[in-house]
Amino acid sequence: MATEPLFRSDPYARSCDAHIVAVNDRGGIILDRTVFYPTGGGQPGDSGVLKRANGGEIAIATTVKGGPEDGADTIVHVPAEDSPAPAAGDRVTAQIDWERRHRHMRVHTCLHLLSAVLPYPVTGGQVGDGKGRLDFDIPEAGLDKDAISAELNRLIGEDHAVAAEWISDDELAAQPELVKTMSVQPPTGAGRVRLIRVEGLDLQPCGGTHVAQTGEIGAVTVTKIEKKGRQNRRVSVSLNE
Ligand SMILES: [Zn+2]
Repeated sequence: MATEPLFRSDPYARSCDAHIVAVNDRGGIILDRTVFYPTGGGQPGDSGVLKRANGGEIAIATTVKGGPEDGADTIVHVPAEDSPAPAAGDRVTAQIDWERRHRHMRVHTCLHLLSAVLPYPVTGGQVGDGKGRLDFDIPEAGLDKDAISAELNRLIGEDHAVAAEWISDDELAAQPELVKTMSVQPPTGAGRVRLIRVEGLDLQPCGGTHVAQTGEIGAVTVTKIEKKGRQNRRVSVSLNE
């Protein structure tokens, strides 16, 4: 049974009621629906708690996509060590560590802006807690940290809307220029692909979680520009607070 990914339609949902569909042989907990984002697309999985009807709590260390043995499109909540083992059928309230997730959303959205400020092919990326980075396929350095910071903060201050839309696999295949991240193939095969549009700035396939307006990112600083190979530059950015 697939897990309904509530974070996809509402990234601001912090908790939901759910029931436990299965506990796999590694102790991973599969729910029928969840607000926990699973590790993927360069964004870390959520942590949080599953609150049980008896008042007990199961701490969740991280969240991952289920393997083939877990069933298609399942999401696995990985308990912290020494958490009490639940049983299939139990009802729980699933609640993410919202402060951490919101920082992921702010950083993730900022990386969309970074890909607009530096319009080069992206070869990799990582969202972290309060910081993130993108790797660009560019031979020449000549990137200026302060200039990129200033441009990012300008776009953040303009408070552009961020929203999801969907296109068919065929429509995406006809517009290959939409795919900026060469290392991550968009999730085609389900017939449709989710795009994230930062109004007036960026449009690309993405399955992560984002803030609704760029102003919500808050001020940022480009902290590092590193040479990673002959034709690769890694640009790291941090939230100021
Ligand atoms: Zn994204």
